[in-house]
Amino acid sequence: VDSAPPRLAQELAGVVGAAHVLADPELTAGYETDLTGRFGGPASLVVRPGGAAEVAAVLAACVAARVPVVPQGGNSGLVGGGVPTGGEVVLSLARLDSLGPVDTAAGQLTVGAGATLGALQRHLSGSGWAFGVDHGGREVATLGGMAATNAGGANVLRHGSMRAQVAGMEAVLASSDVIRRMSGAIKDNAGLDLPGLLVGSEGTLGIITALRLRLVPALPATVTALAGVEDVRAALALLDQLRRAAPSLHAVELFHRDGLELVIRRRRLPDPLPRPFPVYVLIECAARQDPLDELAGALGGVVSEDDVVVAADTASRRALWEYREAHNEAINAEGIPHKLDVCLPLGELAPFLDELHARVREAAPVARTIVYGHLGDGNLHVNVLGPAPGDDAADEAVLRLTAEHGGSISAEHGIGVAKARWLHLSRGPGEIAVMAAIKRALDPAGVLNPGKLLPPTD
Ligand SMILES: Cc1cc2nc3c(=O)[nH]c(=O)nc-3n(C[C@H](O)[C@H](O)[C@H](O)COP(=O)(O)OP(=O)(O)OC[C@H]3O[C@@H](n4cnc5c(N)ncnc54)[C@H](O)[C@@H]3O)c2cc1C
Repeated sequence: VDSAPPRLAQELAGVVGAAHVLADPELTAGYETDLTGRFGGPASLVVRPGGAAEVAAVLAACVAARVPVVPQGGNSGLVGGGVPTGGEVVLSLARLDSLGPVDTAAGQLTVGAGATLGALQRHLSGSGWAFGVDHGGREVATLGGMAATNAGGANVLRHGSMRAQVAGMEAVLASSDVIRRMSGAIKDNAGLDLPGLLVGSEGTLGIITALRLRLVPALPATVTALAGVEDVRAALALLDQLRRAAPSLHAVELFHRDGLELVIRRRRLPDPLPRPFPVYVLIECAARQDPLDELAGALGGVVSEDDVVVAADTASRRALWEYREAHNEAINAEGIPHKLDVCLPLGELAPFLDELHARVREAAPVARTIVYGHLGDGNLHVNVLGPAPGDDAADEAVLRLTAEHGGSISAEHGIGVAKARWLHLSRGPGEIAVMAAIKRALDPAGVLNPGKLLPPTD
């Protein structure tokens, strides 16, 4: 595949309008680097189609010109999957931001792939319905990008990840065929599930243009608590107790003192508890009726009253969440982090953390390792600060240690370019061969997001 010939820009302008083909480096810059600043490269063009038919025409032109295409939603991904490596056309889905009415008979709605999670949440407010996936990138991340990465977030323990919310999809394949399964029929076993195949395919198999999303009933009564504990084993014991005693459990998040201190400094926040703790657990319960008694009952006997703060109104709940959600920003402010998003079987989480810091230091003596994550899912975000962006010795150490403990090298952010060469740590040769065969079948010219997800072949 080649970089864009000048004729292609004209051809694409004929499809989407000249205003939506960007070539000026000042205008393309925001599409070329990811949020961490670790990944990216120059795009030959950025093209912003307005619908599935335009996406199909853009793809046809790029396939004919043999120019690779990088689909991009909100560019909030953390593994370099949505940014160019050099010379690709960035296909931005941002203009496909429609939000349809709630289909109350089905508890579903239709959205454009470029609508953000935050816009969907505001759209649903007051409707009695809610969306089952939520995370800290909500104002940037698009629903199409979230489906393409099978995003997770804070409520997976209750509602599952993005895959569980996708009831239908419209997508454009490299052949320019548009597949459309948007009726919302709840059961549909008519052969292979192509929308399901595209969930988590990171823009390598097709471009998602619209989604039919499943909704969950809004739970108006929510309480949030932040508890301090002495170590991760105590945090896991608390999780065990919460799971059994609090059916309204909605989120269980984890962070450590070192990450909290960065957040406190960055956002100028007070210390959340009267004394410092090595480990913090953020807990949320949501129900139709006030779940405070249920939460208090579950915490009783495990966490002493002085070691926990509870919030029931929106402002104080948000204030507690800020300690967790500002981690990404506070760590980015310290330098360019290596972000490893891994999932451990819960029984292996503490043994993994026992070894983690020493293993990273062995690989990169300058490294500072900050860990936080979604405790309820065994999902840790391991952030390594210090090594140069191109030095991935620490990345390899973390991913190998994860595999040794039976974990997955990607819990929710995907593989992108960041982890492509370590895919074999989580997938066997047979599985990788099938993935490569599917890629060849759907994208024989290798135009869709090359170099992402699958390991390099040479
Ligand atoms: C503060 C913060 C917190 C976050 N927390 C979480 C979290 O808790 N859980 C979580 O899962 N993620 C989290 N993320 C990561 C990120 O928000 C998700 O990966 C999100 O799904 C990416 O959506 P996007 O629209 O920004 O996609 P992009 O970053 O633009 O793209 C991501 C990948 O999807 C592909 N893609 C994008 N749109 C399409 C499309 N329409 N069709 C086909 N392929 C497409 C791209 O090519 C790329 O491979 C967080 C990010 C930030 C900044």
